[in-house]
Amino acid sequence: MKNTSLCYIEHDGKFLMMYRNKKENDENEGKYIGLGGKFLENESPYECVCREVYEEAELKLINPVYRGVVTFVSDSWESQQMHLFYADRFFGSPCECDEGELMWVDKDKIFDLPLWEGDKIFLELMLSPIPFFSLKLEYKGDELVGAFLDGKPIDKTTPKTPILVSACLLGVCCRYDGKSNENERIKALRDKYDLIPFCPEQLGGLTTPRLPSEILNEKVVMKDGRDVTGEYQKGANEALGIARIFGARAAILKENSPSCGTRQIHSGKFDGELTDGMGICAKTLKDNGIFVVSENEAELYFK
Ligand code: SF4
Repeated sequence: MKNTSLCYIEHDGKFLMMYRNKKENDENEGKYIGLGGKFLENESPYECVCREVYEEAELKLINPVYRGVVTFVSDSWESQQMHLFYADRFFGSPCECDEGELMWVDKDKIFDLPLWEGDKIFLELMLSPIPFFSLKLEYKGDELVGAFLDGKPIDKTTPKTPILVSACLLGVCCRYDGKSNENERIKALRDKYDLIPFCPEQLGGLTTPRLPSEILNEKVVMKDGRDVTGEYQKGANEALGIARIFGARAAILKENSPSCGTRQIHSGKFDGELTDGMGICAKTLKDNGIFVVSENEAELYFK
């Protein structure tokens, strides 16, 4: 299996794309891809991507971000392990390249270009906030016949990224008082992402409605003094299990909740005050490598 590195370079809202129209017997002929190529002997992915980008475009990358590994399996071409990088800092301006035509393409137009089907999947993943990923793409000829994200099959025809979302944000009446925190901006993300609703407090076995709870001295206590830390942790563990079943690598969570808060939670004194801290579920997800963000910051990351 050959090893390659590939980099997508962003500048001023555009991506530097190469239209592959110059090389003989090019398996990418007629397609637009990023810049990169095969490893030389003893090269690391990072060394390879920096060298290839310089050779192809005379750009010196500054701290390209290693975003994931893509394994290509094909009945027509040698299998390939491709190391995917993203960069938005570099020295120089693109030169002529003898492998294809280099051009800056508006970020929102790259998916309209002739791309390999599988490239659309890893580009979506690269542009999303999910952490380092492993993607496997299976081709028969030019047709994508299988796609697996972190070992789990994904729908290659509508490759939406799965994201866990606090159910109350999607309109589920699962709050302690039997109401929801319905948020139209978060609901609108369903056009682009697979939103997976969950409520860790219900998953932990608590009823709805229920007395409000707050965190004090690392324990979750209901307003009547009952220690419900175990229920909260159980719900957090169940949420982590759901994330793993669906392959979700990111979560949008309701701020200020003792379960879902990502930056702030209530003080623990039931006085209406907030303090810096994370809810039990948000912390459990984060500690297990899931990117967590509140509904207030979601638009910065999910577009
Ligand atoms: S636990 Fe999370 S999902 Fe459930 S009601 Fe509270 S904030 Fe919403």
